[in-house]
Amino acid sequence: TKEDVKGFFTRNAFVILTVAAVIIGIILGFALRPYNMSYREIKFFSFPGELLMRMLQMLVLPLLVSSLITGIAALDSRASGKMGIRAVVYYTTTTIIAVFIGIVMVLIIHPGKGSKDEFSKQQQIEQVSAADAFLDLIRNMFPPNLVEACTKQFKTQYAKRVVHVTMTINDTLVAPNGSQQIEEMIPVPGSVNGINALGLVVFSICFGLIIGNMREQGQPLRDFFDCLNEAIMRLVAIIMWYAPIGILFLIAGKIVEMDDISAMGGQLGMYTVTVICGLLIHAVFVLPTLYFVITRKNPFVFIGGLLQALITALGTSSSSATLPITFKCLEENNKVDKRVTRFVLPVGATINMDGTALYEALAAIFIAQVNDYQLNFGQILTISITATAASIGAAGIPQAGLVTMVIVLTSVGLPTDDISLIIAVDWFLDRLRTTTNVLGDSIGAGIVEHLSRHELQNTDPEVGNSVVEE
Ligand code: ASP
Repeated sequence: TKEDVKGFFTRNAFVILTVAAVIIGIILGFALRPYNMSYREIKFFSFPGELLMRMLQMLVLPLLVSSLITGIAALDSRASGKMGIRAVVYYTTTTIIAVFIGIVMVLIIHPGKGSKDEFSKQQQIEQVSAADAFLDLIRNMFPPNLVEACTKQFKTQYAKRVVHVTMTINDTLVAPNGSQQIEEMIPVPGSVNGINALGLVVFSICFGLIIGNMREQGQPLRDFFDCLNEAIMRLVAIIMWYAPIGILFLIAGKIVEMDDISAMGGQLGMYTVTVICGLLIHAVFVLPTLYFVITRKNPFVFIGGLLQALITALGTSSSSATLPITFKCLEENNKVDKRVTRFVLPVGATINMDGTALYEALAAIFIAQVNDYQLNFGQILTISITATAASIGAAGIPQAGLVTMVIVLTSVGLPTDDISLIIAVDWFLDRLRTTTNVLGDSIGAGIVEHLSRHELQNTDPEVGNSVVEE
């Protein structure tokens, strides 16, 4: 029909525009590198990209809260309970697999040579205990002040200490304005994405369950959040048209800005390759296989529908900023039921980070290798557990995973100041792990929908109606 044809072109126009944006961004970035732009010129240049980040982040708070509340209130508590359990089982399984891949890769490739001669750093990072970090994780689930949770990041008592580090490899300064860069990557209140997502997720789930059980009395609130959600998604639809421009400048700007990569031979280069291999195995093999085995559908068709979200993740390094686009891709291209996406995606974007978990375990063992520190089986097990916890605790913002690495390193007594060894390549690896994170969340939504098809048939599809009517 005419609608189908129109829909087909709209979808493909997005994909074509987004892919073109990435290619043009890369070419433009490399073309401008020889001009050695100043920090301020780069800021001007990448301004359209910064705007995209801001627009997406602007929507995250209302989107996260309204979709979770309506998603859960639309199901009866039995159905949401079952769906919740399935989602949690999926998150746990895939995260454990990811950690396992990370560990196997780093043990096989062995990028760290037991010598730190290549690396030298100034100023140390203070140590915090793993217990502090764990308590912080739980504390953040229960924000004492909801308004503050909407405006302030995660508690960062262990993050602020990483601030002044400069990094050299083979005596070449690879992060000249190191302290400046690092300050940006630390989730200080109001910096990158000022919400305590974990706390808001916990609150919204409970709130959604309650108003779902309140029957007629709860109707005004259900209508309110449903309408809010619908309105936000319409805003997202508008921003989608701007996204390719933003992505172009985000990518070009980063390429212009990045430090010289020629210093990056040796251990750091091998480390980068190891991380890339691990993430690829997880994203291209494990997750699609899991999807196929469970749903018997073609995983690559599903991933094709997600292309714009994946590229946005690559461009923004933030799974939380990508969330609005992930919603659109899943609901409109892949036709995943709204009752599932609304429930599963906000939780996934906050706690399910396969790429980050893989990365943290791998990076911790790399640091052990560089220090010539022999890890026994128990310590590797500890690393797997803490890497999982650290990935849950990491906010979906750029380079948050680097900060929660502290938990993993302290748990086995590795020096936390060695995080500075891997800072030089983190901006890049962060983009790749963020893309893996978004893919994991999306495939999770597809799998949970498939497993929950009976419950979905039996509940009132009031909020689950398909998007075609728009
Ligand atoms: N940037 C990642 C994300 O948003 C988190 C991380 O640093 O690993 O998913």
